[in-house]
Amino acid sequence: MDYTFEKWQDKAQQLDIEQRAFIAGEYTGAQSGQTFDCRSPIDGRLLARVSQCDADDVDRAVAAGRQSFESGVWSRQSPRQRKAVLLRWVALLSGHSEELALLETLDVGKPIAESQGVDVAGAIYCLEWFAEAIDKVAGEVIPGDGSFHSTVTREPVGVVGAIVPWNFPLMMAMWKLAPALAAGNSVLLKPSERSPLTALRIAGLARLAGLPDGVLSVLPGDGRVGELLSHHPDIDCIAFTGSGATGRRILRASADSNLKRVWNELGGKSANIILDDVEDLDAAAQAAAAAIFYNAGQVCSAGSRLLVQRSILQRFKVALLEAAREFVPGHPLDPATRLGPLVDQRHLDLVQQYVAHGEGEAQLVAGGRRAEPVAGGSYLAPTVFECKDGRERIAREEIFGPVLAIIPFDDVDEAVAIANASDYGLAAALWSGNLKRIHAIAPRLRAGTVWVNCYDALADMNFPFGGYKQSGNGRDNSLHALDKYQEIKSTIMQVV
Ligand code: NAD
Repeated sequence: MDYTFEKWQDKAQQLDIEQRAFIAGEYTGAQSGQTFDCRSPIDGRLLARVSQCDADDVDRAVAAGRQSFESGVWSRQSPRQRKAVLLRWVALLSGHSEELALLETLDVGKPIAESQGVDVAGAIYCLEWFAEAIDKVAGEVIPGDGSFHSTVTREPVGVVGAIVPWNFPLMMAMWKLAPALAAGNSVLLKPSERSPLTALRIAGLARLAGLPDGVLSVLPGDGRVGELLSHHPDIDCIAFTGSGATGRRILRASADSNLKRVWNELGGKSANIILDDVEDLDAAAQAAAAAIFYNAGQVCSAGSRLLVQRSILQRFKVALLEAAREFVPGHPLDPATRLGPLVDQRHLDLVQQYVAHGEGEAQLVAGGRRAEPVAGGSYLAPTVFECKDGRERIAREEIFGPVLAIIPFDDVDEAVAIANASDYGLAAALWSGNLKRIHAIAPRLRAGTVWVNCYDALADMNFPFGGYKQSGNGRDNSLHALDKYQEIKSTIMQVV
């Protein structure tokens, strides 16, 4: 439905927001009675007082997860039966897509058109994809001389803790939930304390769809809840998306407890490389602006390093700054807005510290200051720096805001060297009209995804998503994601 700004504001007023945890098939406050405030970055308004779970709640949810797993009520259902429940959930989510998009926009400030078209639509597509896939994945029969019947089969891992960040709350949650649940696991979802609302809402819809009690719990709260899950001896696997610092803590917690499997999807500082033979310079400049200003730069695969061949640098800069003008900070419920607030004031302060530091080491060519389209919100103008060689701090560290570092280079080898001179390796992009050059360069880029003559293109579940180096291990999406949530068993049976 295409609503006006006023209509979306009306709808927002009428929202009934769920603020309780979801444990063992029902909504419940934290046993301690503790809550935390959930505020909108649009204007600082209080949206909800959400349950702050602690050890009692975590233990109860883990016990319910374990009990449901061992009972086989979900784990030993046929893939086809699980698929039927998950597809009912898909239908319910689709029926509530408007409400979910509103919650996402109010909670994290993303433009409503993106909440609808990317976050909610993408989450539903992900769930549908894994529901549809799971009854098509079979095991193997290993051929022999007839004296053995031997199989390789896949089984669920058990009880999975899914810990997710705030930048795409619903979509990141679903990237974990869909493959883990389709594979037959029980899952405890820990949304970010900055964006818990959609995770809480979808749990009730899962129950309505017929997901058995205990198979899914949602435990809101701050990092302490994630820590409890990571240390818990009765959790078999943690699937995490977030920062490298937290990823390290989870690995340590696993080592100190039961050596649970840990899958980390971490940060990035992706290089978007523009060669001098780029075919459509304006299109590349528009894509480069969207690559960093989309979702206010709060994207793990944001094109935050723009490497431009020196011979076209001036022309490209002009086109880029023109494209950046599209991203005027505005109220995210206005369907025309393409740049909303950052997730909260604390994050805005952090990004501004980077901007202040950048002014000392690079040339500020656009933005760099707060904006105030709505009083009380946490907005930043789209910001562009021109760096000298890519060794500047703003060109190396993940800022996670609408802050772009342009880095000039002279030849292809230098571009590849700068692109790969990063602890991260999540994504990269390459723009050139010369196919030979593209084929020569793309394999040299140390990144889990390489886009050519596009950026952030083709959100298709068939593509695995994840990083090289300190961007993480394992992959979300595609059938490869199932590897995280399944044990692989060899059964070797002598028959004669
Ligand atoms: P974060 O690491 O601060 O928090 C992520 C989650 O971990 C939150 O739910 C948080 O409460 C929880 N947490 C905090 N401390 C914990 C602890 N000690 N143990 C267990 N859990 C704990 O990250 P963030 O700021 O929410 O998200 C931004 C980061 O996420 C960026 O680095 C971004 O690049 C990354 N990210 C990566 C991907 C990807 O697919 N690779 C996708 C989105 C975001």
